[in-house]
Amino acid sequence: MPRYDYRCRACGQTFEISRPMSAAGDIARCPEGHEDTVKLLSTVAVTGGAAAPRATGGGGGGCCGGGCCG
Ligand SMILES: [Zn+2]
Repeated sequence: MPRYDYRCRACGQTFEISRPMSAAGDIARCPEGHEDTVKLLSTVAVTGGAAAPRATGGGGGGCCGGGCCG
């Protein structure tokens, strides 16, 4: 589900809302409940990305894969 950034013109804070694209044009209330909000440039949610965790608990040394221990 895409995520949209909004800024509240009433209290000035920015916030994110995840909503389906069909509801992208709906009014987004800020956490304070104000409806005077503007949508910022849409930052499409990046799932994973460059900082994906690499270690999954495996050894990683490659010893047992090379046949040196068996
Ligand atoms: Zn507000």
